[in-house]
Amino acid sequence: MAFDIDALRVKPNSPLNLSEISPDGTPEWSDIEKDSKRGSGESNGLSNKDAGKARVLELNKRLEELQELLYAEGKHRILIVIQAMDAGGKDGTIKHVFEGVNPSGVKVAAFKAPSSLERSHDYLWRIHQHVPADGQLTIFNRSHYEDVLVVRVMDLVDKKRWEKRYEHITNFEQMLADEGTTIIKLFLHISKEEQQERLQERLDRPEKNWKFDSGDLVHRERWDDYQKAFETALERTSTKDAPWYVIPANRKWYRNIAVSEIVIQTLESLKMEFPPAPADITQMQIPD
Ligand code: AMP
Ligand code: MG
Repeated sequence: MAFDIDALRVKPNSPLNLSEISPDGTPEWSDIEKDSKRGSGESNGLSNKDAGKARVLELNKRLEELQELLYAEGKHRILIVIQAMDAGGKDGTIKHVFEGVNPSGVKVAAFKAPSSLERSHDYLWRIHQHVPADGQLTIFNRSHYEDVLVVRVMDLVDKKRWEKRYEHITNFEQMLADEGTTIIKLFLHISKEEQQERLQERLDRPEKNWKFDSGDLVHRERWDDYQKAFETALERTSTKDAPWYVIPANRKWYRNIAVSEIVIQTLESLKMEFPPAPADITQMQIPD
């Protein structure tokens, strides 16, 4: 049985309750393990986690092929938006899911707190200039969604102003889709306990110290407000052409499988083809 990515998709216009989705879950994977020829994994001496990691490597290969096709065909634009709480695994996902993919065809745009120049424009101004061109795949590490997440929770602009942004965002993304961009939005869903462990690790392990940001603790205090802000954002902006997926992300190997499957299956649905060879190519010889 194949991994059904629809199981993780946020249905348009229906209420979303994140507390009902376990961040520890492995939807679609456990079923595959039970059903597949690979068996439970234990029979060949592999744990579920090892089998999962092996699967990610297989998926890396497939994604590499599809990205080459995307580039060669030069017709489609792919935008992948990644959002999560701090330490939710955004960087790790990009690193592991896109391992092996040709860096020439992939861009990552990371959005930090806006500069004064950026703040002197509308909030989509800095975003729009990074959307992918023909044949490109662009990953947003944070995005315009910060403008209805951190901005809402930390009261950075009036409610009257951010309230209207859900509609702007839906319209902006619909415009991108209508003009040829395929959009995938991923929310990496971790638990508050998992965040504690990961932030603590940033304090305890010298090679991770650089990632520690005391500001993360301020956001952590507002955990419940963030979960609510994510629920509203996902509910209001998951559309047919720009769907959100909630990825249970406490287990990194599962997160990598789920994200890889979503990206691969979406690319496969585009039915891309290498451009046809010029008619007379078989007759040609490269001269000495
Ligand atoms: P990091 O991704 O860990 O480097 O952190 C980037 C920081 O920038 C996070 O604390 C975000 O909440 C913050 N940030 C990103 N976009 C915005 C925005 N539009 N307004 C305010 N803060 C933002
Ligand atoms: Mg950070």
